[in-house]
Amino acid sequence: MSTVTMTNFRCRKCNRRCVNRPDDYPEGLCYWCAMLERAKGRGWKYVDDRSCPRLLVGKRCRNYANANSWGSCWCRTYANDHGYRWKDCEGNKFVLWEPYQVYMDEMVDLLAAARDDGLHVTISHWGIWVPGIVGLQFVPAGTRLQVPAHQHLAKVTP
Ligand SMILES: [Zn+2]
Ligand SMILES: [Zn+2]
Repeated sequence: MSTVTMTNFRCRKCNRRCVNRPDDYPEGLCYWCAMLERAKGRGWKYVDDRSCPRLLVGKRCRNYANANSWGSCWCRTYANDHGYRWKDCEGNKFVLWEPYQVYMDEMVDLLAAARDDGLHVTISHWGIWVPGIVGLQFVPAGTRLQVPAHQHLAKVTP
């Protein structure tokens, strides 16, 4: 039986006070800084928190289409959890969502909407919010995200 000890500490990078699981974050980083570190290990740079994949192909997020009505963009889904925009090592922008789970029935509609908007979706274990979490990566169709050469061999540690 394992015991998870919750501890208070100050993030050694941003100095914010955090409550965290020390076994997940052995480097003493807060969630945010730990995520940025993992991203850096992959050659990714943080862009912003605009998590609608449509923006990658020059379209507007439909949630903000009209000041008088709340839109219903397909990005407005529980699967869009910890959603941010990132750049790979060659500057290709992508959106990464990191839900704790997805329901495959609902993925069918989501994938169809993404395809209609000219986006390609990859599901991989390359999430960075929690070590090893699954990530849904959106890129414009035809874009191949680049991985720094050393990353093919390097172990990405939390
Ligand atoms: Zn921090
Ligand atoms: Zn949207």
